Amino acid sequence: MGEIIKRYSTDEVTVVWRPERCQHSANCFRSLPEVFDLRVNPWIKPEGAPADRVREIVGQCPSRALTIEEPGQPPSE
Ligand code: SF4
Repeated sequence: MGEIIKRYSTDEVTVVWRPERCQHSANCFRSLPEVFDLRVNPWIKPEGAPADRVREIVGQCPSRALTIEEPGQPPSE
């Protein structure tokens, strides 16, 4: 079985989520609750904040459970 990978997109940016890597540091939803909210489904709403802010917070995920794909970029595995 491969790793679970989920993608949440706007026209500007795609947030890639690998749940098995998450260390539950809470960094993402403390920093940007408008986008990351574990109480709702889907829990990531990239349209909740400007794309640059989403990129910034995703870049701070300590486990790299969150990563970014840009439109037109080949998907990472
Ligand atoms: S910042 Fe990364 S490791 Fe922390 S809860 Fe969010 S996804 Fe998980």
